[in-house]
Amino acid sequence: MKVYISTDFEGVAGIVDWDQILIGGHDYEMGRRLLLGELNAAIDGALAAGADAFVVNDSHSTMRNLPPDELHGEATLISGKHKPLYMMEGLDATFDAIFFIGYHGSMGASQAVLSHSYNPRAIWEARINGEVVGEAALNALVAAHYGVPIALVTGDEATIAEATRLAPPPHGVAVKRGVSRTAAASLHPTEARRRIHQGARLALTEAKPASAPSFAPGTRVELTFLTADMAEMCAWIPGVELVAGQPRTVAFGGDDPLAIFRTFVTLVMLTRALVE
Ligand SMILES: [Zn+2]
Repeated sequence: MKVYISTDFEGVAGIVDWDQILIGGHDYEMGRRLLLGELNAAIDGALAAGADAFVVNDSHSTMRNLPPDELHGEATLISGKHKPLYMMEGLDATFDAIFFIGYHGSMGASQAVLSHSYNPRAIWEARINGEVVGEAALNALVAAHYGVPIALVTGDEATIAEATRLAPPPHGVAVKRGVSRTAAASLHPTEARRRIHQGARLALTEAKPASAPSFAPGTRVELTFLTADMAEMCAWIPGVELVAGQPRTVAFGGDDPLAIFRTFVTLVMLTRALVE
C-alpha cells in the first residue's frame, strides 16, 4: 500500500505565527520540529495499517522544511522548487491514498489560523462550481485526475470543516481551535501526534473513503484577487476570462481536472509579479 503525503505547515499544533514557519524566523527550528512530529505520526499510523511505501511532498513556502534523514517509513522526499504540480507534485495513479498534513483554512474562513489560499498577497477567494474552497479542494483536482482517494486531512478545526465538504469526505483530525487568524488553542504535541497516528490508521482501514474525489464535466473555477490588475493579467492566458461586472474576478474550467489545476498554478505564478 502506497501513501502520498502533502505537507503544509500552518495547520500544525502550536503554530500561530509566520515567524514559526518561515526560514530565518525566530522560532522556525521549533516549528519544523513540530511539523516533523506530526508527519511521522501519520506515517507511523499508516505503517500500522499496512502501508509500506511513502512519498512526502514538502509543499510549504520554500518547500525545504523537512530533514530527509528523520522521515519515518524510509519515505521518499520531494522538496525544493520549482514543482509544476506544486502541492501535488509526484502524485500518480500508483498510489492508494493521499494524506494532507498541517493544512490550513481558506483566506476568508472564520477563526482559521494563518488562513490563505495559495497566495495571501494575491488571492482573496477561490470557488469551485460556486462554492468557496481552500487548498485541499483545489488540490483534489489532481487527486481526481489520478483517481487516488484523499484519506486524511489534519489542521485546525476550520480546515477540517472545509476539507470534509469534499466528496467523499476524508477523515479529519483537528489539532487546534483557531481563536483568531493569529491565535489558537492547540493540543499538546504529544496528544496531537497520538490522534494523528490513530487517524492515519483509521483513514486507511475503517474510515477509508470509497473513491477518489470527482468533478463534473464543465467544472468552473473562479478566483477573486486583491486587485483588478491581477485579474486582468490572468486574462492574458487563453481560456481565462474576466467575469463581467467583477473586475477582480476571473473564471476558467473544463472537463479535465488536471488541465484546470495547471491553469490555476499558472495564475498563481503569474500574479506573483504584481504582489507588493
Ligand atoms: Zn498552504
